Amino acid sequence: MDKIGRIKELVGILQKAAYAYYGLDSPLMTDKEYDDLYDELSALEKETNCVLAGSPTVKVQGYVLDGFTKVRHTKPMLSANKTKETNEIKKFVGEKSFYGSYKLDGLTVVVRYKDGKFTQGITRGNGIEGEDITEQCKFIKNLPMNISYKKDLELRGECVISWDEFRRINKDLDTPYSHPRNLAAGTLRNLDLNINKERNLSFIVFECVTDLKKDSKSETLIDVYNMGFEIVPITKLNSTVNQVHDALQPEFYQYPVDGIIFELDSRKLSESLGATSHHEYCRMALKWEDELYETKLKDIEWNTSKTGLINPVAVFEPVDLDGAITTRATLHNVSYIEDLQLGIGDTIQVYRANMVIPKVHSNLTRSNAWKLPDKCPCCGGDVEIHNENGSKTLHCMNPDCKTKLLGKLVHFVSKNAINIDGMSEATLQLLIERGWVKSFKDLYNLKENQIYLWKYHTVGFGEKSVDKLLENIEKSRNTTLDRFIYGLCIPLIGRTASKVIAKEFNNQAEEFYDIWCHSYDFTKLDDFGDAMNNSMKVFIRDNYGWIAELIGEFNFRESDNNGNVKQVLEGETFVITGSLKAYKNREELVSVIERNGGKVSGSVSAKTSYLINNDVASTSGKNKKAHDLGIPIISEGEFIQMITS
Ligand SMILES: [Zn+2]
Repeated sequence: MDKIGRIKELVGILQKAAYAYYGLDSPLMTDKEYDDLYDELSALEKETNCVLAGSPTVKVQGYVLDGFTKVRHTKPMLSANKTKETNEIKKFVGEKSFYGSYKLDGLTVVVRYKDGKFTQGITRGNGIEGEDITEQCKFIKNLPMNISYKKDLELRGECVISWDEFRRINKDLDTPYSHPRNLAAGTLRNLDLNINKERNLSFIVFECVTDLKKDSKSETLIDVYNMGFEIVPITKLNSTVNQVHDALQPEFYQYPVDGIIFELDSRKLSESLGATSHHEYCRMALKWEDELYETKLKDIEWNTSKTGLINPVAVFEPVDLDGAITTRATLHNVSYIEDLQLGIGDTIQVYRANMVIPKVHSNLTRSNAWKLPDKCPCCGGDVEIHNENGSKTLHCMNPDCKTKLLGKLVHFVSKNAINIDGMSEATLQLLIERGWVKSFKDLYNLKENQIYLWKYHTVGFGEKSVDKLLENIEKSRNTTLDRFIYGLCIPLIGRTASKVIAKEFNNQAEEFYDIWCHSYDFTKLDDFGDAMNNSMKVFIRDNYGWIAELIGEFNFRESDNNGNVKQVLEGETFVITGSLKAYKNREELVSVIERNGGKVSGSVSAKTSYLINNDVASTSGKNKKAHDLGIPIISEGEFIQMITS
């Protein structure tokens, strides 16, 4: 494998290893193996001058930007002329030398390099002027920050999110994105760089704007690939139009695509052909046709989401959509149904948008006999129609709606909030359905009979898995104030805002609690406007009581640099000897130490931090050794003080 290829491979391996280590707590390799690969990567980067943004040797921190600056493009960014007919393509290429590539479905971005360093990233914008997204681009993991090519370089490419990554991110969102393109755009145009950091955006080059002194565009792209960039897959020169079509099927590619680009290979010939104000004459796009299928509408289902939004879904007679038997499609919102004038029994046309998401295209019979539900299908509570960006949406107004509680709980226990490891949505749903959990606080006060039923009489659970979950619930009592605030689901208060608030109150729950009693002006805080201030005030006014109680369930700790809870016994090693009084047995004490981040060892050595022995004056071997090494000997009582103070 060439050196650039090995760099790409190493970055991938090390990213996975770091994720498994920090994110999953299950290391894929030893520290030594990791260090060896890291050293190999770092040597290759020095040798080739190619450093990818996702490389572990580059550390970029997330933060929030003030706004976007406008930048002019060096040459207008035009669209490609489009057709759905392969005959049109055949006419276009004629006898000329051409290649085919995927038409990527993301956000077009221009990147610029000077002296071998990444200097600027710009969105397409209106084609003449785009927005400066240089800082956002630094989080695109496969984008090189350093390259061996030292002259000015400008490339055009598509910023995309793979289907896998799209599904992974959407899983955790209250309002999922409808397409990876929207997710990529939403991520790239986000001023909160903490969000960019967590989403795996990819940059795929499709055009080299700079003249690299080669007439062949496909050869130029290969040069770009050898600099360390990922390029769009291209077909061999002079394959037939049909061969290109067969080679570039959407399911062969990990990224979303919506057609095929046919591009003339010669740079000079392309330039001589010129352009209209809309498109250049050197390329043409073949758009895949969305085929329409007729079927009958059987029902409109209404489903309450975690936020209380009630979403309509069309249920129709089974139809084969390009090989997938489909019976349901989203209807988006109330306005969408009104526009289609739907009614049960209507003949509708459905299709697979971009060959992926089933949608209702049109209603051929338009009976308009549909009915708006007057109660929430989940809780039977009152509903209201809201107007959101010009569309009517239906909402459940019952604050205790079970679905909403589930949504809040899912958020509360999530990784960036209170972080109860292993507590899945399905588990929370079960706890709610059984009536055991009606609030955040209930999670920390499960009754003995409930635990018994859960352990021994619940399908899908066993003694061990329930014990593990209970242990993780206990662990989560050690938290930080910002995680706690973020977990409360206060409208408009995200992770960054939660951190700002926690910092203002010195990470002390008591200080924070004080503000419930006094009026506090949050607009004093960085980036807090009137809307966020009001949101906090309304939330405080309406939820004062239960939050005060909930605070009592937690031990608030400082956080480390990565925002993780700093455990009170972190870095401490204990040795236990003699009989115990306060704890049932040694295992119980060991688990308390470990839960608080400490370690337990069998024998006293220079690495021991404390010897726990109720008989402080004993002359046992362990006591003597501790004395000799100057290691403090503490009683159970002193230990308990240590973890509760
Ligand atoms: Zn409801």
